[in-house]
Amino acid sequence: MRPTQKSWLPEANTFHLPYGAFEVEDTQHLCVALGAHLLDLHAAADLLPPTLKAVCQAPVLNPLMSLGPKAWTLLRESLTRLLSANSPNRKKAEAALHSIAGATLVKPVLIPNYTDFYASIHHATRVGRLFRPNQPLLPNYKHVPIGYHGRASSIIPGGFPIIRPTGQTRPATEGAQPNFEPTKALDYELELALYIGQPNPLGTPIPIAKASQHIFGVSLLNDWSARDLQSWESQPLGPFLSKSFSTSVSPWITPMAALEPYMVPMHSRPKDDPKPLKYLASRTQIPNVNLEVSITTETMRANRLPPFSLSQSSLRDLYWSPAQLIAHHTSNGCNLQTGDMLATGTISGPADSSAGCLLELTRNGAEPIKLPTGEVRSFLSDGDEIILRAHAKAPGQPRLDLGECRAAILPARRWPTVSR
Ligand code: CA
Repeated sequence: MRPTQKSWLPEANTFHLPYGAFEVEDTQHLCVALGAHLLDLHAAADLLPPTLKAVCQAPVLNPLMSLGPKAWTLLRESLTRLLSANSPNRKKAEAALHSIAGATLVKPVLIPNYTDFYASIHHATRVGRLFRPNQPLLPNYKHVPIGYHGRASSIIPGGFPIIRPTGQTRPATEGAQPNFEPTKALDYELELALYIGQPNPLGTPIPIAKASQHIFGVSLLNDWSARDLQSWESQPLGPFLSKSFSTSVSPWITPMAALEPYMVPMHSRPKDDPKPLKYLASRTQIPNVNLEVSITTETMRANRLPPFSLSQSSLRDLYWSPAQLIAHHTSNGCNLQTGDMLATGTISGPADSSAGCLLELTRNGAEPIKLPTGEVRSFLSDGDEIILRAHAKAPGQPRLDLGECRAAILPARRWPTVSR
């Protein structure tokens, strides 16, 4: 629904309404973000349709996500009416408003499973060139969306720190004992997470034409990667402990409906590229989202320097669309569950400056980046903070800020307790 009038709360005028959750005593409440405020859906449930009261008062979004697009639209339309200037319930809604700054945001979705893809051909090519200069892109890439099964239990909301992981690294000389040490090559990966709403039964693939209806929303995702652990462990089955120590997601989930006005055609494939197989043959649209990675170091923060932008890229540069990823994931009959998270893989653009990780930007550490303080980085140091940001844009539409996903690196040591 397009709002016909502005909100009584000016910071809600985009009617973006991203979903989140925050701590309330010994449980958590769902909420939507309204600029610097949040609306507590648990407290406001009586102002919303009675059929949605139970899902609005659940501690996670999964019950709402499982209901599908009609229920999602009903809730968004009801929230839009509640926030519109002529709402008769303004006073009651105001009682459910809180400052985000004073809230502890927690994970709003119970994520049963996590799959990470490799949908950026620019990322795949640039990384491939580092290790296989003569054949950067493997022959399967343009036919099959590549992915691996990630670890759901270590997905944490942005804001929680990342402990430098310890693990096996390649021996100094072939045949010697490997080392067991804190990673010396800690990296970030700029990605977008897609949250699955309605599930598909085991044995029933999701056709590509219906795949988009299964996406509830998106958030930013940082796939932290220990490159030295990764290069030692990844042959022949792919990444394992080099990735599973932590994955950060932004605490807010932008509903797909909010991105509707920002949809654009994906960039077309080069003419000489092979056509995808029939079950993947659709050039569905993609939201016009620009992404950015920035860094601050302890020295930068001590000198009150702003975050330094490392790179910018665009979701349009992906080779495989979200719909293609879902159609492929389920093409063997695999059942996606409500709350499952699918990530795009590192989102890099064609220019070297649009690379979405340090592995690409520094050519595996060979060309360190110089920061405004004179510090250099091949990979991340303790105390560094990585900030992912994204926004959607379209002619005639307000800029839609997808928020940020930030986390700082702590030295290798024992894990703190992360609740929920
Ligand atoms: Ca990744």
